[in-house]
Amino acid sequence: MKIVIGAGSCGIAAGAHKVQTAFEAILAEKNLDLTIEQTGCIGTCYLEPIVDLITEDGKKLTFVNVTTADARRIVEDYVLGEDELKDLQISDSDLTMIGKQKRIVLRNSGIIDPERIEDYQAVDGYLAAKKCLTELSPEEIIETVKIAGLKGRGGAGFPTWFKWDAARKSPGKTKYMVCNADEGDPGAFMDRSVLESDPHALIEGMLIGAKAIGANEGVIYVRAEYPLAIVRLQKAIDQARENGFLGNDIFETGFDFDLRIKAGAGAFVCGEETALIASLEGERGMPRLKPPFPAQKGYWNAPTNINNVETFANVPWIFRNGGEAYAALGTAESKGTKVFALTGKVKRGGLVEIPMGLTLRDVIYEIGGGIKADIAFKAVQMGGPSGGCIPASLLDTQIDYAEITKTGAIMGSGGMVVMDENTCMVDMARFFLDFTCKESCGKCTYCRVGTTRMLEILNRITQGEGLDGDIELLEELCYKIKDGSMCGLGQTAPNPVLTTIKYFRNEYEDHIYHKK
Ligand code: SF4
Repeated sequence: MKIVIGAGSCGIAAGAHKVQTAFEAILAEKNLDLTIEQTGCIGTCYLEPIVDLITEDGKKLTFVNVTTADARRIVEDYVLGEDELKDLQISDSDLTMIGKQKRIVLRNSGIIDPERIEDYQAVDGYLAAKKCLTELSPEEIIETVKIAGLKGRGGAGFPTWFKWDAARKSPGKTKYMVCNADEGDPGAFMDRSVLESDPHALIEGMLIGAKAIGANEGVIYVRAEYPLAIVRLQKAIDQARENGFLGNDIFETGFDFDLRIKAGAGAFVCGEETALIASLEGERGMPRLKPPFPAQKGYWNAPTNINNVETFANVPWIFRNGGEAYAALGTAESKGTKVFALTGKVKRGGLVEIPMGLTLRDVIYEIGGGIKADIAFKAVQMGGPSGGCIPASLLDTQIDYAEITKTGAIMGSGGMVVMDENTCMVDMARFFLDFTCKESCGKCTYCRVGTTRMLEILNRITQGEGLDGDIELLEELCYKIKDGSMCGLGQTAPNPVLTTIKYFRNEYEDHIYHKK
């Protein structure tokens, strides 16, 4: 029997290290020879620390919200006794949060030890890369990704095959494969969890992409606020190199590819790919005009492909199961699965991965368990500060790039912040605008000054000092900022304000005219 402890950032924050120390002490005290291993986050962050007891024949029993005192109970009463400790076991309703998902990106999260390449290989890790490097041409790799219908999961939803093909066809001997792991949306932690729980999936996805575009060098741009992710990623890179999956002559094919990590300094705008490239080159992270696109002239002016962590983590599964199997999931326009960070006033918060095409209601009520204290749902903010809020009347909206965009929100990278009936929607819009205003790089006047003026108006409205005409002034500024901004940050910054005015105008009016 072995003891496996969830040790992602959420587990550690909830006390996983203390629980592990308690298990070690009790096992030593009882002279028991049980192995203790760690794993990443399975997604049910609200149940951490999570401890699995796995028998030799693979039977698993999961204990949740485990304390140091519970560690003693588990050893004395369960391992050595006959008490099943039902009060500590994961409940059937909590299991539904995992059971209703389709896990492709999160397939190994909370299951394997992210710091052991043997664990990744035991679940067929690097077999997809071997197939791509030894059996497929770059054109065949790109064609498979095209059949899969994989779109970039970082926010824009651009077809991955198209970007890879453009980088492959761009002239130049030196090309780069870059991973954007600069996840900066408030409430979003999808990429962090993959980096902490299954870093080899990202490395394998990048290796396949590198072969497709003809890149021999790759960089993973990770925000420095993710220290555990950086440590595990570096270990994974070192292990991949030691085992011949990075470096020269990979799989004896003559193909060379190596990776390094660049820690970003925490600027939200560096999630924009040209700003990310500027930062990689040692300059201040400010967006550059497009065209030229990175596929034409990117890092050091060489053809460069940039995808985010979730996009790459899908790639090995696609090659092990076929592009058609991936495309069989989802809707006509949005294939495969999407990972969301489900947060806010929902009962079961954490990471969820669902096939595209489920509705918001499915995610919030079926998987998330509904609203805390069973009060009314009011809205969900999708797409972080660049997205918008979707009200209760649109709960049956399908999770599909086009359907979400019709509401005024965007799919974004996967932040899903749920709000209940007690949430002030004007204050919510003010919170997100305050974020984008501070994160504006300052290059464009509309983005720099316009968001500042909008924030002043929202501040006075929420402080009960709003003026007649403020709503119209906000709307005018929103459209001018959208039109007059160079990059996606400015172009989307007004979305939370526009959608709250669209669906909750009465709340703005109550603040201004009734001083509520
Ligand atoms: Fe910078 Fe905003 Fe202009 Fe983007 S839109 S380049 S963040 S000022």
